[in-house]
Amino acid sequence: MKKIFLIALTILGLGFYHTQAQNVDNITAIADGPKILVLNYHQIDNKANPLSVSISDFDAQMKFLADSGCITITPDELYAGLNGEIDLPPKPVLITFDDGYIDNYTNAFPILKKYGLRATIFIIPAFTSVYPGYMTWEQLKEMETGGITIESHTMTHPKLEELPDDEIRTELINSKNLLEENLGHPVEFLAYPTGTYNLHIAGIAQDAGYKGAFTIKYGVVDRGSNFFALERVPIFNTAQNTMKDFYERIAWRQSFEEFGWMKR
Ligand SMILES: [Zn+2]
Repeated sequence: MKKIFLIALTILGLGFYHTQAQNVDNITAIADGPKILVLNYHQIDNKANPLSVSISDFDAQMKFLADSGCITITPDELYAGLNGEIDLPPKPVLITFDDGYIDNYTNAFPILKKYGLRATIFIIPAFTSVYPGYMTWEQLKEMETGGITIESHTMTHPKLEELPDDEIRTELINSKNLLEENLGHPVEFLAYPTGTYNLHIAGIAQDAGYKGAFTIKYGVVDRGSNFFALERVPIFNTAQNTMKDFYERIAWRQSFEEFGWMKR
């Protein structure tokens, strides 16, 4: 079974690579209701560490999305679209970054602006304007005027599963409050640090006032998704052929779902 699955993945992945323009339509048209591709990036730089995507690869990936007619949306639009409150565009994509690294401002932001794409960054407020590798409040405010949405990645980026409830609550509530105080708008979405979560943590997040939370569970967001376990497709540095890997990850996301591996 595993072997057949891998062969199927390879065929679907390669097919996607060779006919990318055609297949991008499949990203958002494989079942009833809106299908939202949520990409997850961390660093955009040329350091070639596992969390990095190079600047030129990121540029090519954003160009691919723009040329394919993908329309970038915000977490609020994702939420309203899934609830049927608004009509989402035909190829909705949510571009997300975790942690708030400085290169999101210096390297990713200019490229996003160049292609007219919006994105969401999940920030660790205790690191903001504190550590040199992370963005400042001034940079975050500037980005918010240019199509970037700032949301919470908890106060200090702990493994939530290892914390007692009161500390989980503090991480979720303090980060929300500090972001709202500094940015002047509601902060209602969360990305779990390291992607780890469980139903208990999800319940605490809901009680803390969040409307939804993103994981690193590989998949597409649709009406079958749990708002507190939203799927994403991680995009990391790959040594071989980064663009081919990028196309394949998008295609694999679809294959995983077709094989029934998805949801909750
Ligand atoms: Zn993180």
